[in-house]
Amino acid sequence: MSEKTIPYKIYLEEQEMPKQWYNVRADMKNKPAPLLNPATHQPMTFEELRPVFCDELIHQELDDTTPYIDIPQEIQDFYKMYRPSPLVRAYCLEKKLQTPAKIYYKFEGNNTSGSHKLNSAIAQAYYAKKQGLKGVTTETGAGQWGTALSMACAYLELDCQVYMVKVSYEQKPFRREVMRTYGAKVTPSPSDTTNVGRKILAEHPGTTGSLGCAISEAVEAATTQEGYRYVLGSVLNQVLLHQSVIGLEAKAAMDKYGIVPDVIIGCAGGGSNLGGLISPFMGEKLRGERDYRFIAVEPASCPSFTRGKFAYDFCDTGMVCPLAKMYTLGSGFIPSANHAGGLRYHGMSSVLSQLYHDGLMEAVSVEQTSVFQAAEAFARVEGILPAPESSHAIKVAMDEAIKCRETGEEKTILFGLTGTGYFDMVAYEKYNNGEMSDYIPTDEDLQKGFDGIPRFPGNEF
Ligand SMILES: *Cc1c(COP(=O)(O)O)cnc(C)c1O
Repeated sequence: MSEKTIPYKIYLEEQEMPKQWYNVRADMKNKPAPLLNPATHQPMTFEELRPVFCDELIHQELDDTTPYIDIPQEIQDFYKMYRPSPLVRAYCLEKKLQTPAKIYYKFEGNNTSGSHKLNSAIAQAYYAKKQGLKGVTTETGAGQWGTALSMACAYLELDCQVYMVKVSYEQKPFRREVMRTYGAKVTPSPSDTTNVGRKILAEHPGTTGSLGCAISEAVEAATTQEGYRYVLGSVLNQVLLHQSVIGLEAKAAMDKYGIVPDVIIGCAGGGSNLGGLISPFMGEKLRGERDYRFIAVEPASCPSFTRGKFAYDFCDTGMVCPLAKMYTLGSGFIPSANHAGGLRYHGMSSVLSQLYHDGLMEAVSVEQTSVFQAAEAFARVEGILPAPESSHAIKVAMDEAIKCRETGEEKTILFGLTGTGYFDMVAYEKYNNGEMSDYIPTDEDLQKGFDGIPRFPGNEF
């Protein structure tokens, strides 16, 4: 390619920003499996989901056929406060690695929540407001999702109740205060404010909580208060849909300069940023228009894709949510205490799980010390202090670029830089002090989680 000089940062003009989200399910031959009612094992209907989720979001959740869905003008206007996000050519990293590869990253950390999560938070809050609801409940682990939702709810004047995993509540007081500044009520989970929280506390006194446990509490809080619904920051089809704005912008920016990525890399917790980033590219692959390599990167300490089972499983510890078919470590799985790098959810988006199962995407797992080494190297040359989650993608992008140095291939690599790491200083401190260790669960450890996956006819794994 006769390379026009490509700027360090490619921004879209306001009028070039996406006006529709792209629903990759529409182009999938094998659709992701539907959510099941845990009692009857039948697909969840619109009516069954109504007590939990907002109506419009249920339509989006269940829609496997509409390829493009309009982004309401109010959401487009909110997006303009912090989007388009830049597509950055990592010239400095390329030089440092002495690689012929061309590395690009889509940076989603330029907003107060510090991550891509705001893209879906504003959409979910908007539909709740439009339905005339009073407020929403949710869970948050590290706090990015809770912060994003607090910002969106403040903007739309909705009440916001956040159940925050207790260990994070205690370790990340600053995140908590950001949420409270935006008006959210933040409760450490498990708490004694819900039946399921009290039950978990009785069974596991002194537990520091988990995402699955906080989800159970938030769902109960939503369904027991008039005018409230539950919202979730990842995993669900609707969240991937909203996050497609990342991929659509990235693709539009690349198209402007005739850039075609060979490999697209993202970190995978519940799968929303990766799903959003790859969606339009995956659409081309599914329609047979172009081929790409996609790589999901997960922590070796929470390896849903690379070591999990593809099965129907509970989305939460309290087993109050519908069953989702996904790569899972079992809803009782909790990563070891020394795991610092986020991405600790036991399951994975059904959309990505199906794509992975069908061989359309690859997955690798990486150990956290190598992730922080990559984060440090990246910060020193590219300037941005990356979130530990995002650094999983950095690590594998660097590995791919180093391979190119060895083979001489001039591959174009695109990765998702999902956020900044300013609230992860306890983890960085551990790394800087040389106190960070790696823990890879043994097969026996994982078996305990698998034993909790429900068994019923049709759910063999
Ligand atoms: C939440 C989060 C992730 C992981 O969530 P996904 O749904 O897998 O995208 C990754 N990076 C950052 C910065 C996050 O806040």
